[in-house]
Amino acid sequence: MPESLLRIDDARARVLAAARRLDVQDLAVAHALGRVLATDLVAAHDVPPFASSAMDGFAVAPGPAGRRLRIAGEARAGSPCEAPLGDDEAIRISTGAVIPEGAGAVVMVERTTENGDGTVTVEADVAPGQNVRGAAEDLQAGRLVLPAGTRLGPAELGVAIAAGAATVACTRRPRVAVLGTGDELVVPGAALAPGQIHDTNTVTLAALARREGAEVTVAARVADTAAATRDAIAAALAAADVLVVSGGVSVGPHDHVKPALAALGVEESFWRVALKPGKPTWFGTRGDRLVFGLPGNPVSAMVTFLLFARPALAALQGAAADVPRERAVLAEPLPRHPARDECVRVRLVDGRATPTGPQGSHVLSSMLGAAALAIVPLGEGELAAGDDVEIERI
Ligand code: AMP
Ligand code: MG
Repeated sequence: MPESLLRIDDARARVLAAARRLDVQDLAVAHALGRVLATDLVAAHDVPPFASSAMDGFAVAPGPAGRRLRIAGEARAGSPCEAPLGDDEAIRISTGAVIPEGAGAVVMVERTTENGDGTVTVEADVAPGQNVRGAAEDLQAGRLVLPAGTRLGPAELGVAIAAGAATVACTRRPRVAVLGTGDELVVPGAALAPGQIHDTNTVTLAALARREGAEVTVAARVADTAAATRDAIAAALAAADVLVVSGGVSVGPHDHVKPALAALGVEESFWRVALKPGKPTWFGTRGDRLVFGLPGNPVSAMVTFLLFARPALAALQGAAADVPRERAVLAEPLPRHPARDECVRVRLVDGRATPTGPQGSHVLSSMLGAAALAIVPLGEGELAAGDDVEIERI
């Protein structure tokens, strides 16, 4: 009898149903890079807060070329000229200085001649508002500037400060523990004894977690014994909101992860997804803690992290967790798996999706240059070159 496994979307829905937003903390804007806003940020005042000069030159009344005006004062950035502009007067002005009262325009210094007697000749016509940056041209007081759920990049930090914020309310970063199980695993760079391989998953999964804004509190290897697995998982659960274990979730005699999780009170939500690579993916919870048991094959581990753990980390931070599906045109035919949706790593050029090369779940180099996962739906036959395929960017 064919087994009926969860599809990707159903599995993801179960993960997201369990992912509750973490608590909120106020952070200095300078320390909030990469964090997610927990509340709407509204402009405290107009930006710019005053009308200012866009040029170095002279603040003048609008008027025709050829006027000879008395230089009545100076307005510098940060030091306004207190006196208003009188008739037949000009006020020397720097970029960013407040436009003096009565001056409707600025003539740039290159269009003027100073006469050496305290007067300046304006060599060009000056239109109303010329070289004046109006108040509130960027942001208006009270306007919603950054909605809750926005991830703060460099531009968002700058805009928050311009809008008057000193601190921002952000969701706490999820603490993520990563455990790589396997007696065969050795540290990066170690000489390989027969049967050993370098542990890649502990680093790739921690890197994926960090890229999603998480703080990685544990990243460790675990031997394939029941006791070691249970002890490592117990310690990791104490130090994390999200535990990601790679390997050991199948049904071999040396797969200790599922029994250890059960013994530690982690409740299974699902095990196995109609997915290639990544069929043995496990997910469960203990209270608000999320636990992912990802397959050990290095590609499977990364793909299942991207499909399931990444949106969970977004949801924990209060960011949009829905993964947009786009469409691309297949550059090559791809066979369909009869019972599993396949995530093919593809390059994207001009809307065309080209597989990165051999797609085995152990071929980690297939992740290099991959811009997206193309999701080849389960079924008979193949997708032809030129067919549309759904993609999720990675
Ligand atoms: P498992 O899921 O434990 O049966 O492992 C499946 C395959 O992935 C085996 O070939 C393992 O050697 C390999 N593998 C498991 N964990 C890692 C890891 N952390 N780094 C690299 N390969 C791994
Ligand atoms: Mg193993």
